[in-house]
Amino acid sequence: MSSSDAPTTTCQLRILATSDLHAHLAPYDYFADTPSDRVGLLRVASLIRAQRATAKNVLLLDNGDLIQGTPLGDRAAETPIPHPMILAMNALGYDAATVGNHEFNYGLPFLRGIIRQADFPFTVANVAPVTGAPLTPPYVILDRAVVDDNGDAQTVKVGVVGFTPPQIMTWDRGHLLGKITAEDIVETAHRVVPQIKQAGADIIVALCHSGISDLPYETGMENAASHLATVSGLDALVTGHTHLTFPGAKFAMTEGADVADGTLHDVPTVMPGLWGSHLGVIDLTLAKTETGWTRRAHQVSLPSIYARNAEGSVSATVPDAADIADIAQAAHTDTLHYIRGVVGHTSAPLQSYFSLVQPDATVQTVAEAQRAFLQTVLADTPHADLPILSAAAPFKAGARGGSTYYTDIPQGPLATKDIASLYLYPNLLFGVRATGAEIFEWLERAAGLFNQIAQGAIDAPLHDPEFPTYNFDMLLGLTYDIDITVPPRFCNQGMLLNPTARRIYNVHHNGKPVTEDMEFAVATNNYRAEGAGKFPLTFAHPPIYEGSETCRDIVAAYITQSDTFTPTITPTWRIRSIGDTTVTFDTGMGALNHLDQNGNGRISDTGLRENGFARLRLTL
Ligand code: MG
Ligand code: MN
Repeated sequence: MSSSDAPTTTCQLRILATSDLHAHLAPYDYFADTPSDRVGLLRVASLIRAQRATAKNVLLLDNGDLIQGTPLGDRAAETPIPHPMILAMNALGYDAATVGNHEFNYGLPFLRGIIRQADFPFTVANVAPVTGAPLTPPYVILDRAVVDDNGDAQTVKVGVVGFTPPQIMTWDRGHLLGKITAEDIVETAHRVVPQIKQAGADIIVALCHSGISDLPYETGMENAASHLATVSGLDALVTGHTHLTFPGAKFAMTEGADVADGTLHDVPTVMPGLWGSHLGVIDLTLAKTETGWTRRAHQVSLPSIYARNAEGSVSATVPDAADIADIAQAAHTDTLHYIRGVVGHTSAPLQSYFSLVQPDATVQTVAEAQRAFLQTVLADTPHADLPILSAAAPFKAGARGGSTYYTDIPQGPLATKDIASLYLYPNLLFGVRATGAEIFEWLERAAGLFNQIAQGAIDAPLHDPEFPTYNFDMLLGLTYDIDITVPPRFCNQGMLLNPTARRIYNVHHNGKPVTEDMEFAVATNNYRAEGAGKFPLTFAHPPIYEGSETCRDIVAAYITQSDTFTPTITPTWRIRSIGDTTVTFDTGMGALNHLDQNGNGRISDTGLRENGFARLRLTL
C-alpha cells in the first residue's frame, strides 16, 4: 500500500449468520412435547439484537436447512402460506439466505413459494434450471449504506453467494430430476466469484450449506467448505450442514483451519451449530481503497443461546424475543394441537436408548411397517417372489442431537408426536433388489459404527462418535453377528478402509445361510436407494419401487391399524460375545428406567455422567 497523507477511511461490518435452523422457531422440543433451551429462532433473535446493539453496520444471513425438521415444519408444508419461519425472518430483517439440501424435501413449487414469501433474497449458485426461470439468482449484491469509523455515510457493496450440496440430485431425485441440475461447489465458485467482483462487489460472503471435512477435494463432494475457502476473493464464509460449530476444538487439526483466529485458509469462517443453538458473528474491518472496500481485519465469535452446566444440563443465556414470540404463537399452538392428537396405543414402551447396542423396538417398528408395505405393493409384480428384507436405522440416538435426543414413548396412548419421533424425516419408501453380496457390503458399511475392540479390553468406548447413527442400518428378515474385534471394512465416511476385513458373519435368512448370489427385495428409503451415505451398493437395477408415500405415513398406518400396537424385538443382529471384555457407551438418562428389561444382565451403569449422558457398560 502506498503512503499517503490522508488517513485511511475504515468501517466496521458485522455479519450475523444462522444455519440449520430446521424449522426450530419456538424453544420447544415437539417430539418430547417439552420446552427446550437448546433450540429456536425466538432465542437466536435475542442474540441477533444484542449483536446489533453493539455494531453500527450489520448484515443478517441464513445458511439453509430452514424449513424442515420439526412437526411445525411439516404442518407449514401442509398449509404453505405464510410460513412461520419466513414470517419471523422477515420481522428480524434478514438480508439474504441460501437453500440447504432440506429446502428441496417438499418439492420445487413449495420452495418457490417460500422464496416468494421472503422479504429478502435467496441465492444459490450451483443449482441451475433445466428449462425456465432459475430458482434464485446465483448471487446477489447488497448495496448497503454504512457509517464509517469517522461517522460519515458510505456505501459498501456486499456480494452474497450461496452453495448447496450437489447430492440434492440424489436425495430429492424424485422432486428434482429433469427440473434442475446441481454442480460442484468449488468449480462453481471458481466460475462465479470473478463475476461477482466484476459486478462491483467490494467484498464477498459465501453462504456454504456444506461442512468442513478433512477429505481431499473430489468433484461433487458433499462437504466442500475447506476447499471452497481456497478460492480467491472470499472475505467471509458461513458453513453448516454437518451441524457442528466453527470455530471449535474439533477442527483444531483440520488443514487450513485456525480455530483461534476463526479462519479457514485465512477466510473468516463460522458454523453455527444446529437448530438455533448458536449465532455466527464475523466482524470485518474494511478499508477504503481506490478500487473499493477491502477486508483489513476480522474477528469471529459464536455466541450460544444456552450455557452448559457442570452436571451436563443447560440453561438459557437469552430470553425469547417477545415480538417474534407473538409472530410464532399461532403456528406453535397449532403444532402443539397437532402433535398431541392421539392416533393409537402401544402395549409396551418404545424407546431408543439401547438402539446402538442391540436390536430395539423403535427401529424394528419402522422396519416392520416398511416390509409390510413393500410386500403389498410388490404383489402381482415380477418381484413378488423375492424374499423381503427391510432396512432401518436409529435416527434419534443421542450423538450430536444431545443427551435428550432419544425416542422415549411410554406404554399407552400414541400421539402424532410419537410417530414423528419414530420417523423424523420426510423420506419416501423405496424398494431395491439386492444380491447376497450386496447385502454383505450393506451390513459391513453399517457395522462401521463400532470401534475395533480387542479381546480383554476393559471399558473400551464401543462407538465411533463420528459415525452418523442414521447410517447404522439393520436388515430385518435376516439374522447376523458382528465381530468387532475385526477392524471396520469401511471408514465412517464410507471409504473402503480394510479390504480384507469382514465383521459380518453368520448371516441367515429363514434359517438358511445367505450366499452371495441370493436375491432379495429390500424396503428402504429414497436416500439409501439413491446411494446416500456412501453405502457400497451397486444395484444392478433401478429401484423396484419408487413410492410417493412417506415412510412416516407408512409407519403411522402400520401401528394404528389395530386398536393397540404390540412392539416386538427380533434378535436380528448381535455383537459377537468375546469373553473377558467390557465396553462402554453413552446414552440418555432415561435409559436407567429401562435397564432391568434390557441387556439380559449384560448392561450395567458405570455411574459416570458426561454432558447429560449416562455411561453404561456392556459385557461382551
Ligand atoms: Mg443440510
Ligand atoms: Mn441440516
